[in-house]
Amino acid sequence: MKIVCIGRNYAQHAAELGNAVPSEPLFFFKPESAILHKDHPFAIPEWTEDCHFEVEVIVRMDRAAKWIGKEHAGRCYTTVGLGLDFTARDVQSALKAAGKPWEKAKAFDGSAVVSREFVPIEELGGDIQNLTFSLLKNGETVQSGSTAEMLFPVDALIANVSKYSTWKTGDLLFTGTPAGVGPVQSGDRLEGRLEGRTMFEVDVV
Ligand code: ZN
Repeated sequence: MKIVCIGRNYAQHAAELGNAVPSEPLFFFKPESAILHKDHPFAIPEWTEDCHFEVEVIVRMDRAAKWIGKEHAGRCYTTVGLGLDFTARDVQSALKAAGKPWEKAKAFDGSAVVSREFVPIEELGGDIQNLTFSLLKNGETVQSGSTAEMLFPVDALIANVSKYSTWKTGDLLFTGTPAGVGPVQSGDRLEGRLEGRTMFEVDVV
């Protein structure tokens, strides 16, 4: 399986990093080896001085899809989860400035937190574009957003990615992060909530 992550899908987050809003979805991959093992703490890699959290709604593909239109993309999933796209921001900034790919900053071991549970969208009101989510760091809310604020809705993302890369069953789509990203430190505790439900808790070491 693969993880497809969307960059700059919330206008305020694009702005906080000094990026323009894209005219087409921006995506990158994380490998399966990036998934943080269940119930393991997140260890900040020793090669970064500025590792950021990014909370994101995750869609799990229930079927394969290639060149699918956005009007049909809703058939590809029924559940949503929540996760973190850990990012070595200092490394990413240097790579961006040099025009190089982002993998070292985005695809490293442990950089993808995936909630254990995926909740049927029907249980959450039935509209994937109307879900609220948040991230708490040491008990204080640091990020909060609604999927209503996405620049490209989930179905448009699935359709766009499928022009380039075939979706396989079990693939995960990280749908982008809202504003408020920031650094983690050893000793932090991160808690992600989707529609008020705790979806994951991660200790940082
Ligand atoms: Zn992200």
